[in-house]
Parts: sequence; structure tokens; C-alpha cells
Amino acid sequence: MNKIRCQCCGKELPAGSLKYVVEIKTFADFDGYLEQCHGDLEEGMLDLLEELSDVDPKEVGDDVYQDMIFILCKDCRMRFIRDPFCIEKGLFEGDTLKGTIH
Ligand SMILES: [Zn+2]
Repeated sequence: MNKIRCQCCGKELPAGSLKYVVEIKTFADFDGYLEQCHGDLEEGMLDLLEELSDVDPKEVGDDVYQDMIFILCKDCRMRFIRDPFCIEKGLFEGDTLKGTIH
């Protein structure tokens, strides 16, 4: 049987130990505005469909919706719940990028 490890820190999580499932769903937000449809809506939709016909359907699907599942130990889960985007580290201030991730 494969050992289960925390997908954040790598700590082994033996059978029966406390572990957490983190499910992250990301999906595109549609604000009702279609950039390609300045004129006739039907013509814009046809243009859009023609463009999409050349793109891999999986790629289009991933752009619209993704669902990821992670197993975390208690400590990593606590850190994730407290600060899921590591804002505490001071990488961002308002909309301005202050540093890089290293
Ligand atoms: Zn961990």
C-alpha cells in the first residue's frame, strides 16, 4: 500500500492519523461582456466558435474550470486556513508587487 504524505510538507501520514482534504475549485467569472462582439452578437459568436474550433477542448476546459484536491497534515492545513495565498509574507501591498517568491 502506498504511503500517504502531506502534499505540502511531505510529512508521512500513517493510517488512522489526522489528515485533511483541501479541495480547490477555480472557474472563470463571466461579467456579461463579450470583447469580440462589438457589433452583431450572432456574428461575434460565430467568430468565437470558429476560433475555438482550432483549440484543444481540454485546454479550453482547463481555462474555464479546474478542480484540485490536496491531502494536508494538521500543521499545513492550519497555515493554509490562516493564509491561503501567503499574503502574510508581505509579497503584495494593495495591487503592487513588492517582491518575488524565493
Ligand atoms: Zn504538512
